[in-house]
Amino acid sequence: MLRLTALLCLFASPVAAQGSRSVGAPDRGRLENGRPMQDSEHYVRLSGEGVQWGTDELVGLLERGAERLQRTEDGPRLLVGGLSLQRGGRFPPHDSHQSGRDADVSMFYTDLDGESVATSRFIDLDERTGCGRDDDHQLRCLDPRRTFLFIVALLEDETTRVRFVLIAGDLRQLVLAAGRRADVSDEMLQRVEEVTATRQGSAAHRSHLHIRIECPEDDAGCSG
Ligand SMILES: [Zn+2]
Repeated sequence: MLRLTALLCLFASPVAAQGSRSVGAPDRGRLENGRPMQDSEHYVRLSGEGVQWGTDELVGLLERGAERLQRTEDGPRLLVGGLSLQRGGRFPPHDSHQSGRDADVSMFYTDLDGESVATSRFIDLDERTGCGRDDDHQLRCLDPRRTFLFIVALLEDETTRVRFVLIAGDLRQLVLAAGRRADVSDEMLQRVEEVTATRQGSAAHRSHLHIRIECPEDDAGCSG
């Protein structure tokens, strides 16, 4: 039995050493031993596996966040777009997304009656109305409550820390207003405000959320 255990450890140790590594900065970096998003009952993968690689921390965060949201409230699933290429590096048209710490995911949407609806893709929301058209030309509008609850689900994660979530300023205001009506603590509301605080480039985020996580603790070569 001892011999068997020793043998198992021999095989197990190289695998354990092969955790993902985020190297360099999101706009000048690469990904080692990245992990692909898998099919899931909790989210929908919009792109192929070739562009949905991330660190263990990022992929785990998205998996757990999507699952937590589904458990919290019935409703449409998260759409997951691009993360990084398998080995990271330049990933046009993105400036970042190079080191496995960035992900583009959907906001959530309602129909014109305010009912939550699933969509087939990210929808570019009009600055004036907060609505846009899906592939079938149906008008869909931001669901600020569900979008807020998803961000909360990310911030409640016990393993991975979110550095920021990019969202256009006017849409952010709608999300925060819905948050003030939701059943969350003042502290959590403040954390959502901080993590979505306007940054350079956020104005472009009218069709999706851009999530960046902090450098994983063990990744000494991670920066930015
Ligand atoms: Zn992005």
